[in-house]
Amino acid sequence: MNTNMLAVASSLSDHDLLDRIATLAGKEREASAELVAHLAALDERPSLYAAHGFGSLFNYCTEALCLSEDAACNRIIAARACRRFPVILELLACGAMSLTSVRLLHRHLTPENHQDILARAGGRSRRKIEALVAELAPRPDVATSVRKVPTPVRTLALDPVPVAATPRAAETAVSAATDVSDLRPVVGPTPHPPTRRPIIENTAPERYRVQFTIGEESHDRLRRLQALLRREIPDGDAGVIVERALALLLEKVERAKVGGSTNPQNARSIRPGTDKSSSSRDVARKEKRTVWSRDGGQCAFVSADGHRCTERAFLEFHHVQPYALGGPATAENISLRCRRHNQYEAVLVFGQVGGRAPDTYPSQDG
Ligand SMILES: [Zn+2]
Repeated sequence: MNTNMLAVASSLSDHDLLDRIATLAGKEREASAELVAHLAALDERPSLYAAHGFGSLFNYCTEALCLSEDAACNRIIAARACRRFPVILELLACGAMSLTSVRLLHRHLTPENHQDILARAGGRSRRKIEALVAELAPRPDVATSVRKVPTPVRTLALDPVPVAATPRAAETAVSAATDVSDLRPVVGPTPHPPTRRPIIENTAPERYRVQFTIGEESHDRLRRLQALLRREIPDGDAGVIVERALALLLEKVERAKVGGSTNPQNARSIRPGTDKSSSSRDVARKEKRTVWSRDGGQCAFVSADGHRCTERAFLEFHHVQPYALGGPATAENISLRCRRHNQYEAVLVFGQVGGRAPDTYPSQDG
């Protein structure tokens, strides 16, 4: 059956494949909303899952339904939220909201505000939902803590005031990272965060809590910088030091990428006479700066139906009219593309190489 599914999918035309995927995604959303509604009903009959040997709805979901812990948490939270606000089910079914969005927002919904907030949340990405939560319930900046974790590396949490953190802070970090911990079985206090994934959390409008782990060498650099910058940053705030370091690194990386700062105020750092002629295949630094700034450091490919690519990594300078066809290396003819779209457009113009698409096309060949 499964191998047959793959064979059937592989045999579809491009148009039918996209069509089928859209249909299946819609069915998945509807099935998910329906499951949430049924879990909401089961949640009101605890003796039902208890009679079948499950001590909680969470255990029923993970053990009887084989859902992952995260999937179970998301569905149970949505089930409880939709009992208070049934409109959530419709939003889940039509794709206006995801289970993750509901999980992030549910604590902030009230009978008075839910219509307005759900309308604002519709179709938003997770990051935008987090920004909305930060706006609804802004939290103060957390205290800086630099602490040694029980491994050969150190954990650095960035915020004001340099102090050694306490186990309480570690617990706080855990609960801040996931608001579904109340649904999991309690197994005692956690001595340190169970995950080493970096945490970037929107805590208030334009404020973020960042937490990650660094090595001994970086920790020593941080301590040396705190000492060297004691006059400018008296409290040695690691967050302020990292902010400064990020600004310097971004400046350096952008200079390497586009030959100079994309900030017009810093454009004087480019020496006159070093830019290449527009007849050259190479894109001059000045043109790169203009293109980078104009395209906002993001792939500028726009599909026939108006969707602009959101990729910001591995960007290349793409000749709109290919250099090989006389296209000049001017800002008007150069545009940012991610690797995939640079390659895609090259294939549209030049066709496949050796019967297949090339893995990469040099950016200047566009
Ligand atoms: Zn792209």
